[in-house]
Amino acid sequence: MKNSLIFFATIVIGLSLPAQKKVYICTDPKSQVYHYEELCKELEKCKFEIKQIKENEANDQEKRLCKLCKENQKKKDSE
Ligand SMILES: [Zn+2]
Repeated sequence: MKNSLIFFATIVIGLSLPAQKKVYICTDPKSQVYHYEELCKELEKCKFEIKQIKENEANDQEKRLCKLCKENQKKKDSE
């Protein structure tokens, strides 16, 4: 009984700490968005370096998710 409780707790903790999703940002200082897709059309416009960071880091920099990537994500979720 005790073992199964520990097992259950491990699963709950594991689910509440998902691996941080990687996102892409343009290092243009004017850029305020981050992207899920490396091949995003908006990201292609970037004339600066493209960097891969964690989503929480992007949020810390007060960036928001790109509209195109958001739409793509919605489509994926509804599939
Ligand atoms: Zn995008």
